[in-house]
Amino acid sequence: MKAPERVLLLFHLGLALFFLLPAVLLLLLLRTLGAGPATAVLAGVSLLLISQLTAFLYRIGHRGSSGGRILRLSYLTLKLLQAARMLPEYAPEKMVIAMNNRRILGKAGGFRPERTLILLPHCLQDHTCPIRLTFDPDACRRCGRCPVAGLLEVRDRYGTELAIVSGGTAARKVVRETRPDLIVAVACPVDLSLGILDVSPIPVVGVLNQWINGPCFDTWVDPAELEAALALFLSGPAADSGAKSS
Ligand code: SF4
Repeated sequence: MKAPERVLLLFHLGLALFFLLPAVLLLLLLRTLGAGPATAVLAGVSLLLISQLTAFLYRIGHRGSSGGRILRLSYLTLKLLQAARMLPEYAPEKMVIAMNNRRILGKAGGFRPERTLILLPHCLQDHTCPIRLTFDPDACRRCGRCPVAGLLEVRDRYGTELAIVSGGTAARKVVRETRPDLIVAVACPVDLSLGILDVSPIPVVGVLNQWINGPCFDTWVDPAELEAALALFLSGPAADSGAKSS
């Protein structure tokens, strides 16, 4: 099975399993109240079908389906499966990131650069660099030893906001203060998926960083990959010129 199909299957499976217990309880309740077996089973199955319809509405970006909550329910159920060693590591997190990115594709091209925040983890910074960037990313001397230099150049070309944060709490604080219309976030699977769920309904384009030196240490992201996401989602001349230069 290909990766996109696996992600879809996991998303639907998570929601179906979440509603399985309520469906069984409903069936038993109706039987206790004297309903016939066919009626009780039909009610339980209807509940499961509603969960799948809700998942489908989320997939197609329907405004009425409460995206963040739907994604969270599926994620939490899959985490239980993962805890029981029935799913590979980071499968629930990668499901959240992929489903989120897929859903917001429908909004591509509609965001203003000045209302867009590039959110980066501090582990992208070379560990030998003595400069503290979490207060002021522009303190970077752009020596090129780590991807921060290239990412700042992308920020400059597009005219977006950019912040480098030390963790989830700091990220939430920056989001509260800047109140962006769009976040392009780079992080590991766990931080990225939790961030996406936490800041909902603010749209987040998730880009995974690469652990070329192990987790949380001198990680890497290709500035061109981030630029491609910006070019896709931003509107106006800055996005057009950026897309041409990439
Ligand atoms: S690019 Fe910036 S953050 Fe990275 S090592 Fe050089 S000065 Fe430090």
